[in-house]
Amino acid sequence: AIAARTRALVKTYGRGDAQVRALDGVDLEIEQARLTAIMGPSGSGKSTLMHCLAGLDTPTSGEVSVAGISLGSLEDNALTRFRREHVGFVFQAYNLIPTLTARQNVLLPLELANREPDWRRFDQLVEVLGLADRLTHRPPELSGGQQQRVAIARALLSSPDVVFADEPTGNLDSRSSAEVLGFLRRSVDELGQTVVMVTHEPTAAAYADRVVLLRDGRLAGTLVRPSADDVV
Ligand code: ADP
Ligand code: ADP
Repeated sequence: AIAARTRALVKTYGRGDAQVRALDGVDLEIEQARLTAIMGPSGSGKSTLMHCLAGLDTPTSGEVSVAGISLGSLEDNALTRFRREHVGFVFQAYNLIPTLTARQNVLLPLELANREPDWRRFDQLVEVLGLADRLTHRPPELSGGQQQRVAIARALLSSPDVVFADEPTGNLDSRSSAEVLGFLRRSVDELGQTVVMVTHEPTAAAYADRVVLLRDGRLAGTLVRPSADDVV
């Protein structure tokens, strides 16, 4: 099944001579329960594509739909609600609250939304992400990889249709990177989570079911079940 798709997606910034075509007609289908990596050189449009897919940015033309919802038809309020209810975000900076425990950080978004967590899901995430003995620790007491796993648990708790990860290993050494990518992989395999990850880290490709290569705002190819050698 298809979790998200774009059709003839175009995004330009600025106007006239200064206009930049960040995306130049992207047709993409993101499969459910798969880990898709968006890769390509700096400036090729990776962040813009992810922001358009996640409803953080509005396309200049073309269509985006996620979980069967066409984002172009949504007003600002509805777009905010869409992000809250249908997608999750993982960032390079983990954005955890340093004074709260790992457990409190994971639960915070649902608490703020006044929603009761699915405790079975919570237990599954703690298990899959190897956080059982870390829940009472505060972020400063955790390694970078552990903090990112907490951020992943937080993003996944509400069972979003798609989780978007923006350079999730950007701040990590290679060992912690491998650990975080391995846990993202497990969340796909064991929980059926759909994950879209933007990365420029070649080794990340080996964890993906599919790599989408961007160049100058266009799809330059896709690799299925790639190895790291395919993208260096
Ligand atoms: P990547 O994530 O692959 O590095 P981006 O999506 O960030 O690429 O950027 C694609 C192109 O769009 C680049 O040329 C970038 O300079 C330009 N761009 C991105 N965001 C903006 C913006 N807010 N204003 C103007 N130009 C932008
Ligand atoms: P950029 O900084 O790449 O130009 P934007 O200006 O569009 O991107 O957005 C600022 C950043 O704030 C985004 O990259 C994203 O990391 C974060 N952000 C925006 N909206 C949300 C949201 N609803 N939930 C979580 N993070 C968000």
